[in-house]
Amino acid sequence: MGDQWVIETGEGTASLWRCIQCFGSLQQQSEDSITCAECGANYPAVDGIPDLRARDGISTYADDDLADARRLSAACRGASLESVMDKLCDRPEHDDATRAFRVRQILDSPQRLRVQIEGWLAPCLSKKELFLDVGCGSGGLLAEASAMGFLAAGIDASMTMLVAAKHMVEAHGGVARLACAWAEALPVADDSLGAVTLYDSIEHVGDVGATIAQARRVLKPGASMAISTPNRFSLAAEPHVFLWGVGWLPRRWQQPYVRWRNGQDYSGTKLLSTWEIARELRRHVGLQYQLRVPQVPSEEIAHFTPRRAFLARLYNRIAQFRFIRIALLAVGPFFQVIARRVAIR
Ligand SMILES: [Zn+2]
Repeated sequence: MGDQWVIETGEGTASLWRCIQCFGSLQQQSEDSITCAECGANYPAVDGIPDLRARDGISTYADDDLADARRLSAACRGASLESVMDKLCDRPEHDDATRAFRVRQILDSPQRLRVQIEGWLAPCLSKKELFLDVGCGSGGLLAEASAMGFLAAGIDASMTMLVAAKHMVEAHGGVARLACAWAEALPVADDSLGAVTLYDSIEHVGDVGATIAQARRVLKPGASMAISTPNRFSLAAEPHVFLWGVGWLPRRWQQPYVRWRNGQDYSGTKLLSTWEIARELRRHVGLQYQLRVPQVPSEEIAHFTPRRAFLARLYNRIAQFRFIRIALLAVGPFFQVIARRVAIR
């Protein structure tokens, strides 16, 4: 097992990633095989990244994704970061322009996320304790946080994304601590992490309640989870498919509507309203949460067209007023949650 999997605890060092069946420590047999030291369970791995997703026997997603990840890994040996991301974005549904745009977006993501780390995430993160990014995707947040001196680890439901994320983190000088897992079954010991981030990812999990319960379980008492997500009832266009009004439809109509309007698959996205997330958070004892309206960072406004920049500055101004803030929590484009795990007596 590589040193990158070892975390400091009160009693010394321990294994970060755990067996999802018995929570035993994992041992790396090779670049493509990992074994549980306690129960002997075997897990596949790609580039040393363990695949800790349980297979439910119905979905073939995990197996197809593992095969894609192996192909991407083989194609990316010694490749430049740009070429890795270009291969990641090579999908039949992307034309050349879309693909180039996606590659640019991914390559710019670490720098774009810096203002988030320095801003609203700053009170949650500490340079002494490991934080886990749940739904880390192509690794932008991990890469920038590592470059800034934070100890970061990431999980994602897609091994293909993680193969790319490893290149991303290492290209920024960081240590890639990555595992493929479901957000509803984190392969991490109880009470072990300094923070959990869910950055634009909770809208893609299958079970929001189980995801919050798992994040709470792995946090040390006093540590926080930070969630950022698009608002279901936003008055702006749905940010994944660029359509207006999707969230206002009943859930069962959303997928057919998106398919009818622009042919895209919307099955992996379920936007939450602030009420829905608050209801889920209230179910978990020992969580103190706060809903926040995000500001548009001035670094981002600098790249906007004059009209958009004007609207963004106006938004930032009026978001300071209490009643406007309540309205923006209801219908603003995005919202954030910071939920702190308090000790229960
Ligand atoms: Zn085990």
